[in-house]
Amino acid sequence: MLTFRDDSVTAVILGNMQDAGLPHAGCTCGRCTAAFQNPAREGYAACLAIVDTRGKKRNTEGHGRGTEFHGDKARVYLVDATPDIKFQLNLLAGVLGEHPQRTNRMRQPDAIFLTHAHMGHIGGLPQLSKEAMFVNGLPLYATPPLCGLIQQTKLWSPLVAELDFRPMPSGAAVTLGEGLVVTAVPVPHRDEWGVGTVAYRIQGPNQSLLYLPDIDSWDEWPEAEATLSSVDVALVDASFYSRDELGGRAPVAHPLVTDTISRFAHLADRLVLTHLNHTNVVLDEGGGAETAVHQAGFRIAQIGDQFIL
Ligand SMILES: [Zn+2]
Ligand SMILES: [Zn+2]
Ligand SMILES: [Zn+2]
Repeated sequence: MLTFRDDSVTAVILGNMQDAGLPHAGCTCGRCTAAFQNPAREGYAACLAIVDTRGKKRNTEGHGRGTEFHGDKARVYLVDATPDIKFQLNLLAGVLGEHPQRTNRMRQPDAIFLTHAHMGHIGGLPQLSKEAMFVNGLPLYATPPLCGLIQQTKLWSPLVAELDFRPMPSGAAVTLGEGLVVTAVPVPHRDEWGVGTVAYRIQGPNQSLLYLPDIDSWDEWPEAEATLSSVDVALVDASFYSRDELGGRAPVAHPLVTDTISRFAHLADRLVLTHLNHTNVVLDEGGGAETAVHQAGFRIAQIGDQFIL
């Protein structure tokens, strides 16, 4: 269970794997075999939470007034609803606290922001339904066409009935508290339904963070350099390490780590690699790829890593 600093806005990593997680269904590779045998080696699908403990502190001091104060609870937001959401919510059990009415239940998060429609990013939504957590009016931010797609898909409609859909167009911003603004940044990414993919730029009172788990290629995003330069921390798509991993093929819908670390060498201090495929050699602790990434000055996202915003 994770703990957080009082009177702060913190971004925390709850998963660093590509959509299918680790182990990967049907895979007998060494990493997946090890993870099947030892749950300590499992990895959750890429997910970020934002935890705002400021309201908690101020209210207990008796200064609470206005919309930025939240009773005695921290405010907790998730970016993406992954197939591992139940474990990821459990990591937040301490900061979420008890459900106000139901015994032996944790409080629901205050909102969820979706980046796009792929399974690792929406696959946890059914866990919020009546059959599972049974949330009540949980705000869900996503592009307007993605909200529509989820609501209009018959199979899903009863599963997402308890969600409060908040269509958020690309480029739009939502203020979550004093000095805490989340902006949807459109990025190019494989888009089977024409509903778009966004990264989120999270501006906190002191620092900013970009969360970009999926992008097709840096070349297709002319704003890449300016956007990555404009934040203090950027969590970026690092699905595949090199072409060797793909049998010499170019990757489909993701940049290569080897390209990312040479292209953005001047931004190494702020880039953190996430959304790792189970085939990615940076997962091998102490291996050559992990060493090369660290020597180039980049970080690899780990569950529990925190960034004070
Ligand atoms: Zn993904
Ligand atoms: Zn595998
Ligand atoms: Zn994707």
